Amino acid sequence: MGKVTELFGNIVENSVSVNPQRAASLLRAAYTANGLQKRFLPEGHLLAHQRYVAVMDNQAITRPLRNPDQSAIVNLFFPCELLHALDISPQFTEGLSCYLNGAKCEQVFIQQAEASGVPPTYCSYHKILLGAVYSGVLPKPRFVASTSLACDANMTTFRSIAETYQVPHFMIDVPGRYCEDAVRYVAGQLSTLAEDLQSLTGSRLDEETLREVIRRENRSLALYRKHFQLLADRYIPTDVTSEMYKIFPTHILLGTPEAETYFKLLYQDTQAAEKSAGEKRILWVHTIPYWQRFLREQFNHVPGRQLLCCDLNFDFTEPLDESRPYRSMAKRLLKNSLNGPLENRTNKMLEMAKHLRADGVVFFCHWGCKQTLGGVSLARNLLQQEGFPVLMLDGDGCDRNNANEGQMSTQLQAFLEMLEGNQ
Ligand code: SF4
Repeated sequence: MGKVTELFGNIVENSVSVNPQRAASLLRAAYTANGLQKRFLPEGHLLAHQRYVAVMDNQAITRPLRNPDQSAIVNLFFPCELLHALDISPQFTEGLSCYLNGAKCEQVFIQQAEASGVPPTYCSYHKILLGAVYSGVLPKPRFVASTSLACDANMTTFRSIAETYQVPHFMIDVPGRYCEDAVRYVAGQLSTLAEDLQSLTGSRLDEETLREVIRRENRSLALYRKHFQLLADRYIPTDVTSEMYKIFPTHILLGTPEAETYFKLLYQDTQAAEKSAGEKRILWVHTIPYWQRFLREQFNHVPGRQLLCCDLNFDFTEPLDESRPYRSMAKRLLKNSLNGPLENRTNKMLEMAKHLRADGVVFFCHWGCKQTLGGVSLARNLLQQEGFPVLMLDGDGCDRNNANEGQMSTQLQAFLEMLEGNQ
């Protein structure tokens, strides 16, 4: 399968500059075929929630490609509840870039972005998205929407995308501190955005539909909290790709019926899981370079090892006020553990490492992510003071030409063996 994907990636890469529409059609067709394969011929070792999320995410990526007029390009943290209530499909940076990496054609988009003046040191998730936009492969969306939360690159990337397509860009400014004034400020921006989106799309936003999105979100998060309660002493076999897939239901799909089904399946699989029996339990920080073979070999269904969760997937899990949707969305942004000072994220890591009884923490230092790299020393010191061994693993979450796989594999193996020696 690897050789076929490589061949396919070459064909797409060769089409991008001469016929971007053809490259787009090839990608749509390949993702559709891949989605059917995941639905009807899933990998046998996967649990129900892992099989489901692979199909759900595939649909989330292909829907905006098939129907761009009903789509918006957003960042990971954008509150998509309004989009779900208006039946607009979100396309987001990390998701699309990972799928282009999965099709083994990300290099052509990185080259396109760099040739257009994007610095080589820029985050590869953003470079790939920008390359797909500049090359004309990613179809024009109805609008672009982003938040200031967590990522410096958002300001530049999303403004540039909107200018390229000549579509509106909506930006939600998120203060770094949670307080009543900040909730009112962000809720006000979201309420104005709702009016702007209605004018732009000509669709009416039904407040009851929006409240139902928040109710589904609340039910999903309640199931997720119950999952984490049980996970403290359960063993769920690892599949690193499934953990990365989880950023769809925990972010841009949160509030959809599909995401709620995912959380139901996740909770059922956790209830049915065996009690933990001395496995080495690893907490992962930041994105996961799931496409790297060594990572799959060292974690996927390896007896005695469990990757518990990636910290991006527990950045917000609190209950929301279903009767006040704008305040609820504002609260979700402001209380996100990646918002504000680095201590917020680090404290959440520590809380979850303790609760999930982690044996060690792998901090993935994704090339070009200034905000994550800036928190490395703080996180390491705090976690080590509390007795958690930490591995800082340098790499690139999406650019296969920017990762030293041999070195990463050796470091991870040594770390895991060190933990396994500490019986
Ligand atoms: S990896 Fe860092 S720079 Fe890249 S999109 Fe995520 S937060 Fe932004």
